[in-house]
Amino acid sequence: MSGRKTTVRADDVSGEPAVRRPVIAPTEAVEEEIIAVTLRPTGFDHYVGQKSVVENLKISIEAAKRRSEPLEHILLHGPPGLGKTTLANIIARDMGATFRAVSGPTLERPGDLVGILTNLQRGDVLFIDEVHRLSRVIEEFLYPAMEDFAIDFMVDKGAYAKTIKINLQQFTLVGATTRAGMLTAPLRERFGIVHHFEYYDIDDLCRIVTHSAGVLGVGLAPDGAFELAGRARGTPRIANRLLRRVRDFAEVKASGIIDRDVAKAALALERIDLLGLDPLDRSFLKALIMQYGGGPVGISALAASLNEEESTLADVVEPYLIQIGFLQRTAGGRRATEAARKHLGLYDDAQPRLF
Ligand code: ADP
Repeated sequence: MSGRKTTVRADDVSGEPAVRRPVIAPTEAVEEEIIAVTLRPTGFDHYVGQKSVVENLKISIEAAKRRSEPLEHILLHGPPGLGKTTLANIIARDMGATFRAVSGPTLERPGDLVGILTNLQRGDVLFIDEVHRLSRVIEEFLYPAMEDFAIDFMVDKGAYAKTIKINLQQFTLVGATTRAGMLTAPLRERFGIVHHFEYYDIDDLCRIVTHSAGVLGVGLAPDGAFELAGRARGTPRIANRLLRRVRDFAEVKASGIIDRDVAKAALALERIDLLGLDPLDRSFLKALIMQYGGGPVGISALAASLNEEESTLADVVEPYLIQIGFLQRTAGGRRATEAARKHLGLYDDAQPRLF
């Protein structure tokens, strides 16, 4: 569920305006979360795309049900906003189990987990988001919980300290991560089922925004849906976010119906370009090309140039630029491609048409 940071920053190398998109103010972030929950499909029937992940999971669920056993622990990995949390919810529902969600970085001490773990019933789903950001001590505490369904918990301090063993019900841990590579080997090995999420194609994103428009009561013409889907960076969460922004524009500046022209005008105002790149994406590419000659350059140098966190660049910005062939990760660092230069018009003869 991680996303872009909530910041407004003065601009630097990029020539982009100081306010970059998507800039999410705290209240807006809360609203986005509420809408995300409203729009979240609750069953496999309404979960669009990710066909091979869904097919495989359905088989695992069916097999577990036939054996009357809980599901094995599941690791879901892929960029933010692609539906990992949503799918974990659906898995729990389909198993008739309770869903408990926690975020990896918020767990500081084993004590934070004891209450949660001891309250889980057989088959319940414990969802840990950003599982690569668990502290070492929490991670080690989890190993026996995952493997033997038991925990060793230290009570009291000093001379009175003693360890007690607590048996747990057989639960299913679903871990989500944007960076499978950052998981330690012992943790990764404890997941019996591992699935990678792909970016969505335009047809799937069209279905998602059309469904969301129906739920939110927004008038969306098919060509408007296509325009939004094409600029959603392959990501359902972004598609839904664009829908909300364009809805406001359509209500204030047009008839209320989102068609292609309304979507185009609204997204140009938001500085979301024809490929769905926003000011941060373009700043990233421009810094790479103009400051570092197109690379190769390390992520930390880019993060410093942009005054941005490395993790945001690595988790949110880079995967999509790699997907569309604008960026390469090489042993020597990041490198911009010719296609990126062309898109940004960084040739003398280029005629960029970004919006
Ligand atoms: P992640 O956990 O991967 O960051 P989420 O599960 O929170 O992503 O998804 C973000 C939002 O995108 C959800 O609230 C939902 O509205 C929408 N969404 C994600 N995947 C799908 C899907 N496959 N079908 C329909 N909507 C989806």
